[in-house]
Amino acid sequence: MNKIEEVPMSDCIFCKIINGEIPSKKVLENDKFYAFYDIEPVKKVHVLIVPKNHVANIAHITEKNEDYVEGLLPFVRDVAKELGISKDGYRLIFNTGAKAGQSVFHMHAHLLGGEEMGWPEA
Ligand code: C5P
Repeated sequence: MNKIEEVPMSDCIFCKIINGEIPSKKVLENDKFYAFYDIEPVKKVHVLIVPKNHVANIAHITEKNEDYVEGLLPFVRDVAKELGISKDGYRLIFNTGAKAGQSVFHMHAHLLGGEEMGWPEA
């Protein structure tokens, strides 16, 4: 694993958002996940979905912590319903690792929607 992926939890910006130290615009939460609006949206709807327990990214999921991410997809479904974009379609992206564009090393899904999106994206 890359050093950049080993940010101490005390310095993790998304841990601070989850515990309320840094304000965020919440969409939905349950006991395991938190969804909030991205501060620099790239689509009309751009929400981040994070597990409340810190894990750097998908590559860091192990047998010991895989329950962190169990239930993620049903939560995504509920977030899309809450946003009113369930029927319009939406996209889920997990940038995993610096080379893939991950800049915050607390696992998160970008939920994108609210407009038409091409594939592959130009
Ligand atoms: O996938 P990646 O790690 O690059 O995404 C991080 C995302 O977190 C960015 O889209 C950025 O705008 C967002 N962000 C945020 N609030 C912060 C810091 C980052 O919404 N305080």
